[in-house]
Amino acid sequence: MAVSEYDLGPQEARMMIEARSRERTVFILPVFDLYTAGLPFLPESGHIPLFLPTNGSVPSPKYSHQDMSETKRTDISTLGEFGLIEHIAKGFSRTQKSSIKGIGDDAAVIDTGKDVLLLSTDMLVEGIHFDLAYMPLAHLGYKAVSINVSDIAAMNGKPEQILVAIGISNRFSVEAIDAMYEGIRAACNDYSVDLVGGDTTASASGLVLSISVLGRAPKGKEVYRSGAKDKDVICVTGDLGAAYIGLQVLQREKEVFLANPNMQPELDKHEYVVGRQLKPKARMDIIHELKELGVQPTSMIDISDGLASELFHISKSSEVGVRIFEDKIPIDQDAFNTAVEFKLDPFTCALNGGEDYELLFTIRQADVEKLKNHHDIQMIGYISADAKEKVLVTKGGNVVPLKAQGWVHF
Ligand code: ADP
Ligand code: MG
Repeated sequence: MAVSEYDLGPQEARMMIEARSRERTVFILPVFDLYTAGLPFLPESGHIPLFLPTNGSVPSPKYSHQDMSETKRTDISTLGEFGLIEHIAKGFSRTQKSSIKGIGDDAAVIDTGKDVLLLSTDMLVEGIHFDLAYMPLAHLGYKAVSINVSDIAAMNGKPEQILVAIGISNRFSVEAIDAMYEGIRAACNDYSVDLVGGDTTASASGLVLSISVLGRAPKGKEVYRSGAKDKDVICVTGDLGAAYIGLQVLQREKEVFLANPNMQPELDKHEYVVGRQLKPKARMDIIHELKELGVQPTSMIDISDGLASELFHISKSSEVGVRIFEDKIPIDQDAFNTAVEFKLDPFTCALNGGEDYELLFTIRQADVEKLKNHHDIQMIGYISADAKEKVLVTKGGNVVPLKAQGWVHF
């Protein structure tokens, strides 16, 4: 039987954990790049001791070039974000009876008897998800809560608590952190959620803001990505593409500012699209309205990566096809005009832009009447039985395959 830290005394357990974390460090650091650059990873004499073993029982990791080159190394980009998640998921099975749904939906679903608990977490990393040159910290705080609450909405649940973990450096002042928490507080008020904990750590590589959310739904009322059925009608809330177009505006204004710091950013006439990027709102309002109208979606997901990518998720999870109509895709007029100004196709922005945090859901034909005249819900197509069919019917009547780009981080 393998010895675990639980079987050891505190001192030995600490040493074992530290030895393990040292081994992990070896794999995480870009040692290959250092070697190819001709730089020694470590001094000749061996490893940098993180602590001094007292009884010599802790094995030293091996650092020779030979050992490194024999280690299999698969580039993450060969899997992509979704492939990597599937790869991770393959290595785990659920052992708890209460774990109704694990990896693979907007939130995990946990059985509590009468209700289900909904759990989700989303992290924002400086330089990947936001640029502090144009993202005010208060907005960042608000957005981080919104994108988490949005995942609870996507399960047809109500958010109740959040945990906030931050990685910060001394580049940030207390006032800056206060500003971020001001945004978090505003979002907590808007969504009626309580901040009940978190974690604070130093970060050597920019600001990290990671939020976990806990929500609830009556058992049986939670909605999965997997429930769409043949002939169901596909609906989206609000309008799409504006957040991506807002990002283009902000990036352009940043370039202008860098070229000439005396120039003031021209954001007034792009207020809507910039607001959609900087301060998205989770559509909890729609969740409440659907309940009042007596509509239980058959499947649902929030639009974080772009309409096309989310349709692919519904199609895959539900094992059905999707057929949507270009002329039904809701695009705000200002967003449309700004896209054209940027020489972007507004429909491509709506299909692949992402970060809209609107809801994409399917309903039974019998519920169409109840939502037909809803000012903020648009029916954009329907589900088909053929899981291979994922198509867009263009304005000209052509049927073209949908392409899901999503975000490429790796
Ligand atoms: P969303 O866009 O709705 O936040 P993601 O695409 O981030 O969803 O995640 C899809 C699913 O994969 C979720 O169930 C999420 O909990 C799970 N997941 C994402 N990253 C990891 C990870 N590193 N380890 C385990 N599960 C993960
Ligand atoms: Mg989601």
